[in-house]
Amino acid sequence: MADAISPELDRLIAGYRRFREQDWTPKLARWRELREGQSPQVMVIACSDSRVDPAQVFDTDPGEMFVVRNVAAMVPPFETTPGRHGVSAALEFAVQVLKIKEVIVLGHGMCGGCKAALDQSLQGTEPGEGGFIADWIALLDDARGPVVAQYGTTGRDAERAMEQAGVRTSLANLRTFPYVAQKEAAGQLRLTGAFFAISDGLLHVLDETTGTFNAIV
Ligand SMILES: [Zn+2]
Repeated sequence: MADAISPELDRLIAGYRRFREQDWTPKLARWRELREGQSPQVMVIACSDSRVDPAQVFDTDPGEMFVVRNVAAMVPPFETTPGRHGVSAALEFAVQVLKIKEVIVLGHGMCGGCKAALDQSLQGTEPGEGGFIADWIALLDDARGPVVAQYGTTGRDAERAMEQAGVRTSLANLRTFPYVAQKEAAGQLRLTGAFFAISDGLLHVLDETTGTFNAIV
């Protein structure tokens, strides 16, 4: 059976062994507590990008954050059309069942999903050939217009503007969920936009009154 383990899986298993030694055994009491249930206070919506792991960026412990990751850290609008609404299901569970207090949308620099939204390189492709991605990042179409008008469709300035517009789009879409808007208005839920710049490792938080992302130093 050893032959059936790929080098990639083998590397993960080595990591798993380190986890058992360094995180599981020393923190057994905490893991026992978590066995009874989870009560995270924060939900993070982040990109699937391998360089932006919310648990690493925020240095959190198991049980602290409820996380959804997808291409470009998108939240679709409240939709009741047929389909598999994975993000909406996770959001519903986090806000309505777990009663988390804060939702953070975490965009990031060098985002391939946002870049494809910007240059529309996957438009018109078939499912399996880029079509699913194109369809998903069409969520950014409305935000794209002003970005292109100001910065064009290529270059880091345009890409960064698109990445940050994506965070604003996800925040706006979150507010189309009636229970989210209601809880935010009642002061029971906070929504925050954030941006992790991969090139310098700096976290930026969106100030919605000024519209700017400010670096946390
Ligand atoms: Zn990304």
